[in-house]
Amino acid sequence: MSAEAVRPHVLILGGTTEARRLAEALTDAPGTPGTPPAPPAPPGAARVTTSLAGRVAAPVLPPGETRIGGFGGPAGLAAWVRAHRVTHLVDATHPFAERMSFNAAGAAALTGVPLLALRRPGWAPEPGDDWTFTDSLAGAAALLPGLGGRVFLTTGRMGLHTFAHLTDTWFLVRSVDLPAAPAPPRLEVLLARGPFTLDDERELLARHRIDVVVTKDSGGSATAPKLTAAREAGIPVLVVRRPPVPEDVAEAGSVTAALHWLGGAYASPPPGHG
Ligand code: NAP
Repeated sequence: MSAEAVRPHVLILGGTTEARRLAEALTDAPGTPGTPPAPPAPPGAARVTTSLAGRVAAPVLPPGETRIGGFGGPAGLAAWVRAHRVTHLVDATHPFAERMSFNAAGAAALTGVPLLALRRPGWAPEPGDDWTFTDSLAGAAALLPGLGGRVFLTTGRMGLHTFAHLTDTWFLVRSVDLPAAPAPPRLEVLLARGPFTLDDERELLARHRIDVVVTKDSGGSATAPKLTAAREAGIPVLVVRRPPVPEDVAEAGSVTAALHWLGGAYASPPPGHG
């Protein structure tokens, strides 16, 4: 058996800070400026491919190999995994990328390749927070008129149509790329890529006279300062709960924990790859 036949090939389903940091650690690449250094990888060089959905026009590509675009459902992902001799699958997509996480679970079941879901912990309210929880963007849209009229909507540009009927509400939306219609009529778009500092967020809330913030429970530190700024200013926050995760998938809450899992998994190759 050749060395190449047993070399691990990790496919990271990406689109998050954690996915990038995992790719940096596994390829021994220097970290992204302004972020903590990547933790040490398990011994032994792995081939690392990160897959991106292709939603962002000019993504910041992680180190290692990259591929962009959908696979065509669980069967398409399973075919890709087999064709490229992927030995380990890490679903490091955003906690709200629900479909892709189910596709990953389906592909793992079809191929027998071990799957880890890397999911940063969600946020929890602290004393002084005024949070209202809801299960969906539609739920947030239904609650909004009772909470405020100048909204900082931080749920991403993809679900804006859900708020399009709120014609009396003014929205500030911050996103990497311009949102597409349909969108609420009273809308200002701020093109920016995180992370954002507490000072940025304080200034933004004050300058736009924001009286309610809407967020997904994304977790992580890159976008958390908006929550602190809202707490300080006594502004209510509408929090969209995370969607359900596929059952029976191993989970890691940090890049370090994912590296630990990979270290153990390298030692026991899945069927057909040993
Ligand atoms: P989604 O609804 O779960 O996925 C929709 C379809 O997009 C999937 O069925 C898959 O197409 C394709 N896809 C998603 N992630 C992919 C990946 N990493 N590589 C290749 N194909 C992918 O996903 P979404 O919520 O639109 O999110 C898209 C991407 O943006 C994800 O990579 C996610 O990490 C990132 N992101 C999402 C959010 C959010 O709030 N949802 C926030 C920040 C970043 P096929 O079925 O054809 O394979």
